[in-house]
Amino acid sequence: MTNQATDVVIIGGGAAGCAAAYYLAEQGVKVSIIEREGIGSKASGYNAGGLNPLEGHGWPEPLQPMALQSFRLHQDLWGSLPETTGINYHGRLSSIIKVALDEHELAELRDTLETFNNAPEPGFSAEWLEREDVLALEPRVTPLALAGVRAVGNGALDGLEFTQALGEAAKLHGTEVVSGSAVGLRLGNGRVEAVVTNDGEIPCGALLIAAGPWCRTAEQWLDIAIPVDPLKGQIIRMKPNGPGLEHELTGGGSSMYNKTDGLIWCGATEEDAGFDLSLTDDARQSVTEKAVRLMPSLADAEVALHTACLRPVTPDWLPIVGQAPGWDNAYICAGGQKKGILLGPAMGKGIADIIADGDTDISLTGCEPGRFNQS
Ligand SMILES: Cc1cc2nc3c(=O)[nH]c(=O)nc-3n(C[C@H](O)[C@H](O)[C@H](O)COP(=O)(O)OP(=O)(O)OC[C@H]3O[C@@H](n4cnc5c(N)ncnc54)[C@H](O)[C@@H]3O)c2cc1C
Repeated sequence: MTNQATDVVIIGGGAAGCAAAYYLAEQGVKVSIIEREGIGSKASGYNAGGLNPLEGHGWPEPLQPMALQSFRLHQDLWGSLPETTGINYHGRLSSIIKVALDEHELAELRDTLETFNNAPEPGFSAEWLEREDVLALEPRVTPLALAGVRAVGNGALDGLEFTQALGEAAKLHGTEVVSGSAVGLRLGNGRVEAVVTNDGEIPCGALLIAAGPWCRTAEQWLDIAIPVDPLKGQIIRMKPNGPGLEHELTGGGSSMYNKTDGLIWCGATEEDAGFDLSLTDDARQSVTEKAVRLMPSLADAEVALHTACLRPVTPDWLPIVGQAPGWDNAYICAGGQKKGILLGPAMGKGIADIIADGDTDISLTGCEPGRFNQS
């Protein structure tokens, strides 16, 4: 444990905390990350790793500009981080086949077609697929498919290795990772002077709270609202009797991810279950049933792994990135919801710029911490 003052102490070693550490350390800032369960041990290590910058809660406004910036940062990172860290997280461009099994999903296909063909930047496109086109691209899809859309230009990666690579790159720039739990703060004159851990204090020039769905712990420390709550997600990784997927595949309420491990990752549930991380039979059954409906041959597939983790979600589904209201040297970077891997680089760079320079060219519209702290 260091006794020297660290410029910035970050609570949380997920994608948000590690991205912030990386962009701060790259600028020469001395950083310590306090992480109690290991880098990428929570949602950042168990997500699906999809990078779709054109669709989601908070799209198109206000999140799409930030998402597109983040997508570009991802492409810069996957061109350099694997080599500098030795961690290959398989960052790559990808494609999605969306299949409609009912009228409601047909309408969604039209939305995706419109969105990808009218993207504000080049590199994205989509085409309509009749049933036989869908089956030509992926013969294992149910013949009950009504139609589909193939959208290209999105990306994918392995979330755990991505987060570890960010942490490793930050370490190569001098960041220290402290294994322990932040349990409080030492405060003085409107400033955070030190973070109290289960193993002593770490003095700091600035504090960054990047504790995912555990951010509310810091509410009482700083006497402000940081409303980030957990939304549980269970994923079932299936071992198909055949090759893995070439494209991400959705339809009939199922999402399937094309991973480089040859498994088909299916999911995910969305459960309001507090901090419960148990693996439930209900989730296993509902996720596999939906997957088999979309791809009947998965009925014989072995379940290779069943995981659960917690998305950090705010009441308006927008992240919280910026200076903590009323505090000179406390900052927040959290609330990436279902898109925290996609948004991680932009959230991390945005807060790193604000801490180091007071300003950023990352679009953080709608993400101001003060919106939950108006009297
Ligand atoms: C099933 C599922 C699928 C997903 N799929 C995608 C996807 O395809 N694409 C995408 O972009 N996003 C996806 N996400 C969302 C994404 O995983 C999250 O938004 C993102 O990982 C959140 O990162 P974070 O760093 O904010 O939080 P976390 O990963 O939760 O990290 C917070 C860290 O803080 C640590 N911590 C908390 N309190 C303390 C303390 N007091 N002291 C020390 N350490 C502390 C925790 O141990 C944890 O490691 C998915 C999420 C789930 C659950």
